[in-house]
Amino acid sequence: MTEHSVVIVGGGPTGLMLAGELALAGVDVAIVERRASQDLAGSRAGGLHSRTIEVLDLRGIADRFLSEGQVAQVAAFAGTPLDISDFPTRHPYGLGLWQNHIERILAGWVGELAVPIYRGREVTGFAQDDNGVDVELSEGQSLRAEYLVGCDGGRSLVRKEAGIEFPGWDPTTSSLIAEAEMAEEPELGIRRDARGIHSFGRLEYEIRDGEVVYLDEGPVRIMVTEEHPGPAGEPTLRDLSEALIAVYGTDYGIHSPTWISRFTDMTRQAAAYLDRRVLLAGDAAHVHAPDGGQGLNTGVQDAVNLGWKLAQVVNRTSPESLLDTYHAERHPVAARVLRNTMAQVALRRPEARTKALRDTMSDLLSMDEPRRRFAAMMSGLDIHYDLGEGHSLLGRRMPDLDLVTANGPLRVFTLLHDARPVLLNLGEPGGFDITLWADRVQLIDAKYVGTWELPALGAVTAPTAVLIRPDGYVAWVGDLTQQGLADALTTWFGSPIAA
Ligand SMILES: Cc1cc2nc3c(=O)[nH]c(=O)nc-3n(C[C@H](O)[C@H](O)[C@H](O)COP(=O)(O)OP(=O)(O)OC[C@H]3O[C@@H](n4cnc5c(N)ncnc54)[C@H](O)[C@@H]3O)c2cc1C
Repeated sequence: MTEHSVVIVGGGPTGLMLAGELALAGVDVAIVERRASQDLAGSRAGGLHSRTIEVLDLRGIADRFLSEGQVAQVAAFAGTPLDISDFPTRHPYGLGLWQNHIERILAGWVGELAVPIYRGREVTGFAQDDNGVDVELSEGQSLRAEYLVGCDGGRSLVRKEAGIEFPGWDPTTSSLIAEAEMAEEPELGIRRDARGIHSFGRLEYEIRDGEVVYLDEGPVRIMVTEEHPGPAGEPTLRDLSEALIAVYGTDYGIHSPTWISRFTDMTRQAAAYLDRRVLLAGDAAHVHAPDGGQGLNTGVQDAVNLGWKLAQVVNRTSPESLLDTYHAERHPVAARVLRNTMAQVALRRPEARTKALRDTMSDLLSMDEPRRRFAAMMSGLDIHYDLGEGHSLLGRRMPDLDLVTANGPLRVFTLLHDARPVLLNLGEPGGFDITLWADRVQLIDAKYVGTWELPALGAVTAPTAVLIRPDGYVAWVGDLTQQGLADALTTWFGSPIAA
């Protein structure tokens, strides 16, 4: 039986990102993916938020995405745009880039890291014991892994087979989404009526002066809200045609669809992100309405939270209990996404009182403080893992500062390209000795002269040292003393060598 340390089920955005993270840490990881190639039917997610771009920047691959997409102010809440151009980040914007391109670029990176992908193969079941998991594949093949991670989407077989509860709310609304040709020219843009929101756009577009300008030709991207939540199962061209006629009085001679799908506001979250040797990430762990474009972003960031932790457990530098922090940190993040998408779905309802509420929210969000807070939430820049009391940086994203080191200027994010933790000493050079963790943690002496500013929070006190985790979050902050450093190093990166 073929063995791997970690088997990932599903090579969508979450599975690919996780595979890259594990490979960087030297873990023997493989992906099993049902699709025969990375090609995706339909474009699905429309892009990346600021924090996800930052996370890709941590690994030195953000430019691959930025060079193919279109930078724009994409953060919004219930249709109210939230400008983040004044935020203290190197990427104060989002990126318009369809999911099929995001997956292709991620797959290219994972290929460079030589991760094997069993394509055209489906995981059909598994059994876990004290030492690992036997994974059954279609066509009778099987794999053995120390850990199995379900990145297999909202209908996750891994979640179901593990018996993990998926509590939440059934759909109240559904929309058909499609890409097709139309004989007649529809008016592009959004329409609201008694049923809800509908839209026509084109796959190909440019951002000019902050506005989406569709190209004159090419397939039309259609979104039409249905009268009642549609049934499970694949919608047909006929369903789409009927829904269009009900809203627009015509189907514009729709033909040659390349993708027809249905999304709903079903809102559910896995009660546990792990069960012994089986873990969940991405849509397998949380599903919600697409409002605000947060699903893919949350999945990729789940992967970056889990990757280094799972690698340390597999490499025996940390105890299994480190994996509990994955649930503890990421479950609340997705719970908040579920809450804000439910609120946005409620606010998109068509009747007059809801419109009044939506307009009131919009008025509130035009004020600076609410705008900053909601923008930081929707772009993922305000994520705060609860690592206890302390400095404002503790548990928050490390800013990408321009440092001066003995070897010249350096960006903080550059230090994290290999996904190895960093103790950044901004005080007296040579003031730290972490020899006992030297095999795992980089010690960098540097100077930084600017201010310290966090999105939504504003200026914070300059620390004299910070311990930065591979996912770019701050695990310990020094204020002239080294109190608590040894504990933080042990908690996050394992016992000292001599112990
Ligand atoms: C209309 C729409 C618009 C959206 N817009 C946005 C947006 O703008 N921004 C955003 O962040 N998100 C958006 N999303 C959500 C986003 O598409 C998902 O959150 C994202 O694809 C989740 O990634 P994933 O890797 O977790 O799961 P998936 O993309 O679902 O990938 C799961 C993979 O697992 C494979 N698989 C499943 N079962 C098995 C099995 N048993 N064996 C082997 N392989 C298996 C599948 O083939 C698939 O490749 C949108 C979604 C929709 C529907």
